[in-house]
Amino acid sequence: MTKGVDPQTGRSHRFIDRAGVRSGRLVFVRQVGFNRHRHPVWEARCDCGSVTTTTTPAKTKSCGCLQREVAADRQKARALPKAEKARRVAANASRQRARRRTDPVRAMQARLSRLHRHALAQVGAIKTSPTFEQLGYTADQFVAHIERQFVKGMGWHNMGEWQIDHIIPVSEATNEADVVALNQLSNLRPMWSPENNSKKNKRLSLL
Ligand SMILES: [Zn+2]
Repeated sequence: MTKGVDPQTGRSHRFIDRAGVRSGRLVFVRQVGFNRHRHPVWEARCDCGSVTTTTTPAKTKSCGCLQREVAADRQKARALPKAEKARRVAANASRQRARRRTDPVRAMQARLSRLHRHALAQVGAIKTSPTFEQLGYTADQFVAHIERQFVKGMGWHNMGEWQIDHIIPVSEATNEADVVALNQLSNLRPMWSPENNSKKNKRLSLL
């Protein structure tokens, strides 16, 4: 017989009966066995309603719900106040807008992503990967391609007056593969926006 073990119960002489005893949110129900170190395993009912087991009954205060609540409270305490968070979101958005006004790569990236997302939605697909990853060329290649096709008067200084045009309309697409094919560089060119068309045409005819 193992030394220090009661032959009747198989329990250590130091065994403490904790049945019915409370520890924090736990009330121990019964000992349900031993772990590999021959420490008793206690089943306990937690105030939150769940049943758990522990081999450290003197230290354990809950099924884990207490620690989750403490962590959540800590997270909440660290979170920014609502107004400050809103202010930062707005500041970030306006910084991004400013960047799109001055940085052609950012602007073109945003425009093509929007076109691509809408075109995919038209055929019932959802954009799940970054635009340029799906299209197989880079933002820099796209910018260079557009720049090569600038007509007289077009430039990065007047990005707001022209738009990205599909040579074969993207409305012809019936599925995701069509959309990807129609958003390849060879099908994209800059074109004066409709509201600028008449003005530009008039100006050209005067030359
Ligand atoms: Zn609990």
